[in-house]
Amino acid sequence: MSDHEQMSAALPPADRRVANRSRSRTRVRYGEGHLIVCDNLVKIYKVAELEVVALQGLDLLVEESEMLAIVGASGSGKSTLLNILGGLDVPSAGRAVVAGHDLGQLSGRERTRYRRSAIGFVWQQTARNLLPYLDAVQNVELPLLLDGVGGGERRQRATELLERVGLADRAHHRPQALSGGEQQRVAIAVALANKPRLLLADEPTGELDTTTSEEIFELLRRLNSELGTTIVIVTHDPLVSEQVQRTVAIRDGRTSSETLRRSQQAETGEHEMVAEEFAVLDRAGRLQLPRAHVEALGLERRVRLRLEHDHITIRPDVPHSQPEGGDADG
Ligand code: ADP
Ligand code: MG
Repeated sequence: MSDHEQMSAALPPADRRVANRSRSRTRVRYGEGHLIVCDNLVKIYKVAELEVVALQGLDLLVEESEMLAIVGASGSGKSTLLNILGGLDVPSAGRAVVAGHDLGQLSGRERTRYRRSAIGFVWQQTARNLLPYLDAVQNVELPLLLDGVGGGERRQRATELLERVGLADRAHHRPQALSGGEQQRVAIAVALANKPRLLLADEPTGELDTTTSEEIFELLRRLNSELGTTIVIVTHDPLVSEQVQRTVAIRDGRTSSETLRRSQQAETGEHEMVAEEFAVLDRAGRLQLPRAHVEALGLERRVRLRLEHDHITIRPDVPHSQPEGGDADG
């Protein structure tokens, strides 16, 4: 941090204010107050002689009660990230902290406890989420049983959860007697049984048709707002990612951009959702410019950076080039 202080001392007062503000936001206690903190997270799989770098220095912060979508091409590291957050896999380097649990430091026993009490998991494969020989309510009771919750309370809580996901009338059906969408609803109830702070879902609608997918997402959104459970959903369905307030894109094992959505009053008086895409600034200050911006200004190799009062301009390294307004939106 000393180089930062030197730099800010050399800046005029307004710039120093900006620099100090940014330091207090990003440098001090990275991620404090967040439910999920991934700091330079690395995961390397070794298969025979080969090393596959599935995550290469991923940074991610998620607030409590947020509902977040993670998108990215196949093989970009989405499932790896979810498996680490869910305590099913361990980081090779870097840090992953969920609700104060440093996931790289847990013993086997602590990890099991963490998985059972802090996390709910919903998989894409409906069959992986439920035991085929138990009916819906018994499936929901199972995690409670493992947690030592007594019979009466167990049944009551499981029944309430099935009501919450809209399946009160299917309580005594086994999975094979339920549709794919119904099975995922039961899976969500199972995942919520132990009141986890974090629900992780890896392509939960991957095997469902569009209408059913929309219903499942509607349900997840409702649960997120009713229960306040933080939800992280991996998906490659762009429609799905349009339904959440924040979408994080992963590329080659790193977060590359984020899209935020908020509702805004249109001129007609109606509310409309507006989406804005942001580049992700990593902890070392690295930033990936969108390809379209780079091409539009013909940026190459070197750019001119200038710190202004409340923004930074990026200009091509060409003396006569003076683009109007340095802002990168357009
Ligand atoms: P996504 O879910 O985004 O499709 P994954 O996280 O499954 O991506 O995979 C990221 C990379 O890590 C891929 O190259 C994949 O082949 C590799 N990988 C994932 N899991 C394993 C594993 N258990 N063993 C070896 N390589 C793996
Ligand atoms: Mg995957």
